[in-house]
Order: sequence, then structure tokens, then C-alpha cells
Amino acid sequence: MSDLEGGCACGTVRYRLASRPMFVHCCHCRDCQRQTGSAFVLNALIEADRVVLLSGNAEASAVPTPSGKPHEIYRCSSCRVALWSIYGGVQKLRFVRVGTLDDAAALKPDVHIYVRSKLPWVTLPENVPAFDSYYDSRKLWPAESLQRRRAIFGEVP
Ligand SMILES: [Zn+2]
Ligand SMILES: [Zn+2]
Repeated sequence: MSDLEGGCACGTVRYRLASRPMFVHCCHCRDCQRQTGSAFVLNALIEADRVVLLSGNAEASAVPTPSGKPHEIYRCSSCRVALWSIYGGVQKLRFVRVGTLDDAAALKPDVHIYVRSKLPWVTLPENVPAFDSYYDSRKLWPAESLQRRRAIFGEVP
């Protein structure tokens, strides 16, 4: 059990994370900046079946990506606030927006990615790994998280 509950702005969608996530990304890429209207996005990577929907309904909307691979942002059907993403059509893995948690401070970034487009006034902490683009999860994720990820993908790609 965890107390990691969250929801959209209007309160229609409520969810609970059944455990802590496998890893937390802070992404500074231009796509995330544009999609959030902010400096970066905070995504908690967690198995889809550990995101327990308590009320409401999240609807997918597709956004274009540089790679052409699908990216769907799931939004409250009423207030349209983004709650989580699914990348590459991998339905078993959700990228939950940390800012939608009731306690947004409950999770903090394990890694900063796409730092090459980080806004210049954002200062990163020295004790958290940061990468110009993406990173090798096999080198960074704790063993337990890699094990959980293998349960989704069969192997770590
Ligand atoms: Zn809503
Ligand atoms: Zn990004």
C-alpha cells in the first residue's frame, strides 16, 4: 500500500499508485516543455496495473513525436488536465505526471534527461544524474526496478 493518491484539477479523475514507481524522470526536452507549458515534466514510471483508477475516466489524445512513435497523453475527460502518458504504444507502462499527486513532493527525480534543452535558469542538483539526451536504464535503475521492468518487457531493451 502507498498513500500516493492524485487526480486532475476538477476532481473527476482520482487515482492511487499501488506502489512506489520504478523510476522518476525529469525531462527537459522541447516536447515536454511544449506539452506542459513549463520548464520540464516530472514522470513517474510505473506498471499500468499499479495505477488504480478510483473515479472518473482518462481519455487518450495523440501528440506528434520526432521519432514518429506514438505518444498518447491521457487527460481528464472533463477538465482535460494531463494525468499520464503512454509512449510507443506500451500499454503496460505509464508515465504518471508527478505534479498531479496530492503530495507532489512525495516523489523526486532519479534522473534529469534531455538536459541539452534545459532552460538556462534551471539549476540541477549535483547529486542526481543528468544526461544531454536519454540514458542507459540498465546502469541507473535499482535492481528491483529493473526486475519489475523485465516483467513488462521480458527483457530490458
Ligand atoms: Zn478533471
Ligand atoms: Zn521530454
